Amino acid sequence: MASVIRLNVAPIVGARRGAPQKSRNAAPIRAAAAAKKSDAAAASGQYARELEVATDAVRMASTLCQEVQAQLMRQDEQAETKDDRSLVTLADYAAQAIISWRIQQEWSDFTMVGEEDAEALTEGGEGGALTLSKIVKLVNKTLKLHKGMDAPELTSTEVVDLINKGGGAGGKGRHWVLDPVDGTLGFVRGDQYAIALAMMEDGDLKVGVMGCPNMPKIGEVLEYDSSYTYGFSPRLVSKMLAGESLGWYKGCIFTAVKGGGAYMLPCDPAIKADPLPVAVSKEFDPQAAKFCEPVMKANSSQGFTASVADNLGIESKPLRVYSQVKYGSVARADADVFMKFPKAGYKEKIWDHAAGVIIVEEAGGKVTDAGGAPLDWAGGRYLESLDRGIVATSTALHQRLMDAVSKSWSSSQL
Ligand SMILES: [Mg+2]
Repeated sequence: MASVIRLNVAPIVGARRGAPQKSRNAAPIRAAAAAKKSDAAAASGQYARELEVATDAVRMASTLCQEVQAQLMRQDEQAETKDDRSLVTLADYAAQAIISWRIQQEWSDFTMVGEEDAEALTEGGEGGALTLSKIVKLVNKTLKLHKGMDAPELTSTEVVDLINKGGGAGGKGRHWVLDPVDGTLGFVRGDQYAIALAMMEDGDLKVGVMGCPNMPKIGEVLEYDSSYTYGFSPRLVSKMLAGESLGWYKGCIFTAVKGGGAYMLPCDPAIKADPLPVAVSKEFDPQAAKFCEPVMKANSSQGFTASVADNLGIESKPLRVYSQVKYGSVARADADVFMKFPKAGYKEKIWDHAAGVIIVEEAGGKVTDAGGAPLDWAGGRYLESLDRGIVATSTALHQRLMDAVSKSWSSSQL
């Protein structure tokens, strides 16, 4: 059989199967696109340095995580849990250290709200010290791989300090926001996870970069994926690679700068490709529409999202994906809607959303809480006063989604 999935299809933007491209009068579109492009260039220009540093940092951390995940996958399946946990821990800490290091190269006095802190390493006796020595090794190896002769050899004290840079309180002012390995369970299972880095000023997201080392380049793989999660079955991979030279088939980095649009590029630095603009889905067709949500029932009410989807007329089953890869799915129109409704009392952390949210917004989407209010990034390490849950969709569909949420909410309260 011929290769079902063409790897070098150009338009990721709104590339929805069954949605024919309409022919349009090209001239005004070109003019508008040129104007938009120069706006975008100006906006990106203001934060060009931040974008470059963040992309480089996330790329280094992605390489590191890929290596650790590969090690995990090679392990005997019987040997799971404890070793799995410790390998994830290595990746978490080492990725945070690498990203801190890269930011510190440019801005020595930066502040960061990051998921990890090094207390368990420094106060963890012999076990902690052993883990720390492994982390230091991993960090130095990654630095060497990416920076070659320029790479420093970091000491364990330096690595601890870099990890602890993540202890910032956030709030007003300029802060970086980091989840070094978002989607721990996906990471352990060889599935989706993300390295999510954002920068905000006075509660306004300015830059977002998200590494998704296992995300397929094209959303069409969903059609061939029985588990429906972007999970990569060996059958699927060989199908995708059939008759193709090795190229960019998985591993995506999403980038966004406020006012500058959202883009996607390959995770693998060896693959040369121009950043592809991404955009949320343009038209809402309930029959073709998809919504995505967390994999784990513990993290979001799947009954409630099913009811909202039903109110919108969405027929297909949910795309359940680990981590902020879900925001990437909405940003490039693999899915039309992302919804998360955690249990009452659960406090969302800003690093679990910041990078993904600016990427969706810059791709033409809107992200709010379930009451329609924007998310408050300046409230510290948590998203305080969040109404019920978080929804992301195209700006055009947002109000309809709000109405659907209200309808489901009222009937669930009966
Ligand atoms: Mg994490």
